[in-house]
Amino acid sequence: MRIDRWLDILIPGCCIAGIACVMADPAAVITGLLNASTLTLVGGSLLLLGATAGLMSYVVIRRQSRLLAERANAAIAAGKPQYIEAPQNALGPLVLALNDGFAAAEKDVATALAQAKELQVQLKVATSQRQQAQAIINSINDAVLVTDAFNEIIVANEAAGKSLGIDVATSHRKPIDQALSDPALVGLLRDVRNSRAAHERRVVEHKVRRGNRDNTFKVTLSGIPGPNGESAGVVAVFHDTTRESEVARMKNDFVSSVSHELRTPLASIRAYVEMLIDGEASDEKTRAEFYEIIQAESVRLGRLIDNILNISRIESGLVEIKRVPISPTLIVKQALEVIAPQAKLKSIRIDERLEPAFYQTLADKDMLYQAVLNLLSNAVKYTPEGGSVTVSTGVDEVARRMKVRVSDTGVGIPAKDLPFLFDKFFRVEANKTVAKGTGLGLSLVKNIIETAHKGRMFVQSEQGKGSTFGFELDLC
Ligand code: ADP
Repeated sequence: MRIDRWLDILIPGCCIAGIACVMADPAAVITGLLNASTLTLVGGSLLLLGATAGLMSYVVIRRQSRLLAERANAAIAAGKPQYIEAPQNALGPLVLALNDGFAAAEKDVATALAQAKELQVQLKVATSQRQQAQAIINSINDAVLVTDAFNEIIVANEAAGKSLGIDVATSHRKPIDQALSDPALVGLLRDVRNSRAAHERRVVEHKVRRGNRDNTFKVTLSGIPGPNGESAGVVAVFHDTTRESEVARMKNDFVSSVSHELRTPLASIRAYVEMLIDGEASDEKTRAEFYEIIQAESVRLGRLIDNILNISRIESGLVEIKRVPISPTLIVKQALEVIAPQAKLKSIRIDERLEPAFYQTLADKDMLYQAVLNLLSNAVKYTPEGGSVTVSTGVDEVARRMKVRVSDTGVGIPAKDLPFLFDKFFRVEANKTVAKGTGLGLSLVKNIIETAHKGRMFVQSEQGKGSTFGFELDLC
């Protein structure tokens, strides 16, 4: 047995025996020590032995604790603080227990670190999934709005910001009545949220006022089912149908305008033919007059059908555009030859201010001729007798553009009608009595210049003073 084991027994043994003797007769012990009496000498000796053993144990403990400290330092230096070598004495079990404690703590720390790492990975995945979902929602053209059970906004995409006037950056967790300025829409979202059926799905048409115009939306509202089947919020998707509604309205207007415009000359032709059949034109002069009207109306009908077809062919991109280098000046000259007789009939003076013919543009000759002829024809049509029409071509060498301008001293156009001049079948109410027409000429010219040749149309007019119509194209 090692000395420290002996000391484990000796120290407490001697101390207990010494203390027992002292307690039995303290005076005798002291006297015994002084007089060397037998009984008291034994007690005193034991006490001295106990004190000596205590001193020795102090020395041993100091040595052991230094040894332990050295082993602990060595274990820490080796990166294994939990593996302190246990001494072969009373401290051994304590060190072993501490080692076990350290090992368990190390295991817990390792598990906690692994869990933290796992949580970090999960957080990263969740963050990237959230960013992906946000990017997907933002890339949707339709406005998307998601509210929670408390009628607060939890998702609003960029389209929702634009279409519904929501400040997307500050909308998160905002009550809908604060984020939306449209009480009807707020009511709609609340209705679906409060609905008993969590799977409630409603499709409604809703108009949203933006600036000075109404936008029409097809809104699909779906309840979000909560864990107990209750409604936990609403997903609302807003599909803008403004353009579709406009196109549908324009189609309807177009069909009714076309049928109306076709019916007028047809009715006139039919009436004169019936009168001829019924023998109502008794003399040759009246018959010739009727034939002329029938011919004029059928020419008008043909022109109307041609214009409708040309416009729809250009608009649908079906027409073949044969672009060749041509001089707008030469095209104007050709059109003037056709218009001159009509102008002469009304004593309208025609002034020409034309650039030399060597300036050319890439264009379809027939189409460009048709555009210039239409503008010249209108200028003569809407200018009273004795007026004047000025045709000019101008070149901007720097911008490489060429302008064609047709100005007249005619009836002019009220400012309120200017924005609609190029709409199909639009005719200025105030000028309807001045000349007959179909309201398709300017629409065709605009399609030829802007859709087919990527040019630009322009118009300036003052009622009672005259108008200037024109276009510009790239030089080649
Ligand atoms: P229309 O067959 O009626 O002439 P357009 O499309 O050519 O059809 O013109 C549309 C309308 O624009 C005309 O009805 C007319 O009121 C007006 N307009 C066109 N050109 C002129 C012009 N030079 N002066 C005055 N009004 C014009």
